[in-house]
Amino acid sequence: MHDAGRELAGRLRVGGTRQLAPSGTVTPTRTYLSMLTGSFSSPAAGNPTGVMMEAAYRALALDARYLNCEVAPEHLGDAVKGARAMGWAGFNLSIPHKVAVLDHLDRLAASAAIIGAVNCVLITSEGELVGENTDGQGFVTALRGVANPAGAAMVILGAGGAARAIAVETAMAGASSITIVNRDRARGQALVDVLVHQTPAEATLVLWEGAYGVAVGTDILVNATPVGLSPDVAATPDVDLASLMPEMIVADVVPNPPQTALLGTARERGCTTLDGLGMLVYQGAIGIHLWTGLNANTEVMRDALERQFRV
Ligand code: NDP
Repeated sequence: MHDAGRELAGRLRVGGTRQLAPSGTVTPTRTYLSMLTGSFSSPAAGNPTGVMMEAAYRALALDARYLNCEVAPEHLGDAVKGARAMGWAGFNLSIPHKVAVLDHLDRLAASAAIIGAVNCVLITSEGELVGENTDGQGFVTALRGVANPAGAAMVILGAGGAARAIAVETAMAGASSITIVNRDRARGQALVDVLVHQTPAEATLVLWEGAYGVAVGTDILVNATPVGLSPDVAATPDVDLASLMPEMIVADVVPNPPQTALLGTARERGCTTLDGLGMLVYQGAIGIHLWTGLNANTEVMRDALERQFRV
């Protein structure tokens, strides 16, 4: 557990000696100061993460808030300074701030430095801003529920932010080979170069031209493109679906709808499937652990998100 997280956990957790109490109760030590966390993005209005995070806080009986903030690119620096000035425990970054925020941080965790993007910031008790990338860690945690990434042969469709985070974290978790399949050669090659030079995994680029046939021997196929995302729910990445074999794990990063057309076909062909909600839930739980040292109830978080996507 991070030192700052340990300190917050001691300060906020219900039970034992504490300064804060669960909402609605009065104790002699109550301070009326909630732990503050949140998300900076633009546009922010459609981001349901706060519902999931506050459900987790309630389940932990934490007096904590998660504020979904609309932050324009030109105001990112002020927003970060504001969070520090107001004693926030930390915050998440979403589009378009995951790379730009690097200019405003004091330190990067090892994988965030390799990925070159930050989606989660911890503000330590000394006011130091530490950048983490929990997207890939969330994916790996979800993956571990069905398979061990160590020694796996992976194919990742896409080379954008989600693909970079997943590729680097699975490489650091021991995946032996990673094939990046991407339309844009420069973007795909940039990710392959990162993997080859900064992780122990072997990596190759396949330029995505026409239906991609997944090679025999592939253990894990990941769709890390937005193909299939609502409202285009019938869309499937351009993959030769006949090349999906029952021994393969097929994962999709698309969180909404969780059951994408790709996952439906993969299941019909006997593959083990992994939806994008797991990655989203676990990255949130890892953030909560960084900020508080506590383990959030991921079932409560998933249920809260699923209810949003059903509306
Ligand atoms: P980026 O814009 O950074 O990257 C998108 C990638 O997808 C690029 O490599 C692009 O290829 C490729 N791509 C886009 N459209 C197509 C297409 N029609 N056919 C083939 N390739 C395509 O996006 P992100 O990586 O940030 O996000 C990708 C997805 O991941 C989104 O749906 C997002 O919601 C999801 N996501 C899910 C998370 C979770 O927790 N579940 C967390 C983060 C993201 P090219 O380079 O050739 O243009």
